[in-house]
Amino acid sequence: MPDKASNEQHEQRRTRGVEHTASNTQCRPLSAQEVQVSETEREPLRLMAVHAHPDDESSKGAATTARYVAEGVEVLVVTCTGGERGDILNPSYVVPEGHEFDSLEGRSAVRREEMARSAAALGVRHRWLGFVDSGLPEGDPLPPLPEGCFALVPLEEAAEPLVRLVREFRPHVMTTYDPSGGYPHPDHIRCHEVSAAAFAAAGDATRYSTAGEPWEPMKLYYNHGFSMESLRAVHEGMEGAGLESPFGDWIESRTAREIPEREVTTYVEVSDYFPQRDEALRAHASQIDPEGFFFAVPRDIEADVWPWDSYELAESNIPLPQRAHDEYEDGLFVGVREALDAGDEDRRTAEVNA
Ligand SMILES: [Zn+2]
Repeated sequence: MPDKASNEQHEQRRTRGVEHTASNTQCRPLSAQEVQVSETEREPLRLMAVHAHPDDESSKGAATTARYVAEGVEVLVVTCTGGERGDILNPSYVVPEGHEFDSLEGRSAVRREEMARSAAALGVRHRWLGFVDSGLPEGDPLPPLPEGCFALVPLEEAAEPLVRLVREFRPHVMTTYDPSGGYPHPDHIRCHEVSAAAFAAAGDATRYSTAGEPWEPMKLYYNHGFSMESLRAVHEGMEGAGLESPFGDWIESRTAREIPEREVTTYVEVSDYFPQRDEALRAHASQIDPEGFFFAVPRDIEADVWPWDSYELAESNIPLPQRAHDEYEDGLFVGVREALDAGDEDRRTAEVNA
């Protein structure tokens, strides 16, 4: 596990680590005019973040999306389901005038409005895939999943609208959850499955041939926002400041269950974008308790001990810089601009030879 006790060490890792997305790979200095021409001609980078329910985009990688928007990246958040089976999780929540939360339709309408406010807070574009929330089955034995829900749609069929959207938006990088869903909700597991399937199929002209022109995304990442190392860092940071940490029980129960930790390959520094993330969380007023654990950590402590969103690089279709075992990517677009430039070079050569 890397030592992330101070920002100074983090800075060292940044400089020691591999190139960041915004870096310019040219060796000679460019004149202002050249820079202007090359920047306006450059294709914007595009990030697609796929999530299971409205609110997941605010609790997993939210600050990363806000940061990339600020850096000129086109960011599209995709939500697989309408979140119609979510309960009210905020004890102080009052259903807004003219709305109701007792039917799937009523909840869907409330959550659509919350999602629109969250997307505005993050500055991202947003699309729904249109599936129906599967709900979190509880009890022993577990009850069957409700008919027609996302998790029961056959995978080949469930991946189609995402393949179509990948081919339309043409992301260079996609993010989703790891195979466990990161959380054992059937929609989170399904979200992983459709994302991995769409990542693999979108560039293949023989698959989903009526769903648009093929587009092969370059990299696929898993969100690891609630890794044990992040929980421990924040927990120790709060105790060190003499505050009561809400994470002690969580850490203990996860340690007891011996859930294997997944590898983290990438730390994106996002502390400047905590305000946008927090506004996005608050936008989901029926789901996020403003007195709950999301808001229990003073932001100056969080910025000091854990200023990152962390990710696992799951798939890459491009060559990447070699990393030592203690080196990490500091962004999701590492290697992407270089791959695009190399692709342009290949095209120019092909045109000259044609
Ligand atoms: Zn969810």
